[in-house]
Amino acid sequence: MSRFVVGLTGGIGSGKTAVSDRFQALGAHVVDGDLASRAVLAPGQPALDAVAERFGPRILKADGSLDRAALRQRVFAREDDRRWLEALTHPLIGAWLRDQLAAGTSAYCLLVNPILIESGQASRCDRVLVVDAPESVQIERTMARDGNSEAQVRAIMAAQVDRERRLAAADDVIVNDGDLAHLDAEVARLHERYLAMVDS
Ligand code: ATP
Repeated sequence: MSRFVVGLTGGIGSGKTAVSDRFQALGAHVVDGDLASRAVLAPGQPALDAVAERFGPRILKADGSLDRAALRQRVFAREDDRRWLEALTHPLIGAWLRDQLAAGTSAYCLLVNPILIESGQASRCDRVLVVDAPESVQIERTMARDGNSEAQVRAIMAAQVDRERRLAAADDVIVNDGDLAHLDAEVARLHERYLAMVDS
């Protein structure tokens, strides 16, 4: 079981997936922290029944899965509902993450989440690694990948935690403004560093 956890985060199109794919290729167990809140409210999970009981059946879609937009609206409008939902899901998310991270046998594992810092998941990490790229590069790469307009990418960036706050939480930073060979070298450098930390 991997006990040493490296949290990986970064803004939209900064290169989190490109970086985590490279760590994975070097043997690191990768957990997608973004999936946690979906997993604990998936059909068949007791927490989903509790949500349907509190908010009524219209919080579910026809196929029985959670209508996430409806739930968001509801908890956005009412503070007590938001607190109730957090009290329900936070311990479950914690347990889900523990299980996922424990499933790894690599020397260290990677917990990837675009909202690692905002969600509080950074607190369970031994190191926080931020992938950083100039805004113009984030926009260019995201537009090329998703076919979005510049305005759409800027709107998503505006909703994310700002770059200064993200960098302030970082123990390590990969500046992803070069080519993919540069990314390979940066990941290899940090991989060695994390292995040395685990050994010490
Ligand atoms: P999101 O938060 O939107 O999921 P992300 O942070 O995971 O994004 P990636 O998907 O890894 O970002 O990268 C965005 C795009 O830029 C992808 O198409 C990826 O292949 C490309 N890319 C990432 N890094 C580089 C690089 N150094 N050189 C060229 N292309 C890159």
